[in-house]
Amino acid sequence: MSFSPLIQSLVEAFRCLPGVGPKTAQRMAFHMLERDREGGIKLSETLQLAIENVGRCSRCRTLSEHELCDICDDSSRDRSKLCILETPVDVLAVEQTGGFNGQYFVLMGHLSPIDGIGPQDLGLDVLLQQIDGAGIEEIILATNPTVEGEATAHYIAEQVKDMGIKVTRIAHGVPVGGELEFVDGGTLAHALAGRRSLL
Ligand code: ZN
Repeated sequence: MSFSPLIQSLVEAFRCLPGVGPKTAQRMAFHMLERDREGGIKLSETLQLAIENVGRCSRCRTLSEHELCDICDDSSRDRSKLCILETPVDVLAVEQTGGFNGQYFVLMGHLSPIDGIGPQDLGLDVLLQQIDGAGIEEIILATNPTVEGEATAHYIAEQVKDMGIKVTRIAHGVPVGGELEFVDGGTLAHALAGRRSLL
């Protein structure tokens, strides 16, 4: 049996969401039609508004509905430190630690030659122009500790190495409160390689 065409296309539309398979999509569609039509209308309106109005910050490239995002527009931020991240959600994660008051640059991904994602797709040409003469003293490479994230960090470090800027990589390793015996070998190797002196 198949559903009527509109129900079917609603189910298929939900499948554009990450992690939503056919069953979940079906549940969402029926939930909305049976029990929450108001919520469905609100969802569709908000979705449309967000998609039409959320663009990219012209400086750090994160998602923003203004030309400059709130962080780039904040004159109290330390402009000598630039943290480079893969996604806007990563910005949020670092902001929530409360431990960083510098600027950000969001790559919206990582280098991935297999998928045809090169330096220009990540805005690295824009990044280099911005860094040039901007008084940046430290670049913190906070891409993910994946093969692609590491490769991206190394590529950026290579590009800026002659600019007289300190380039650092965030440390990866043992989780706070964790125990060594439960940490996987790759993570432990990273933690060892990134060790720092205690005194
Ligand atoms: Zn910004």
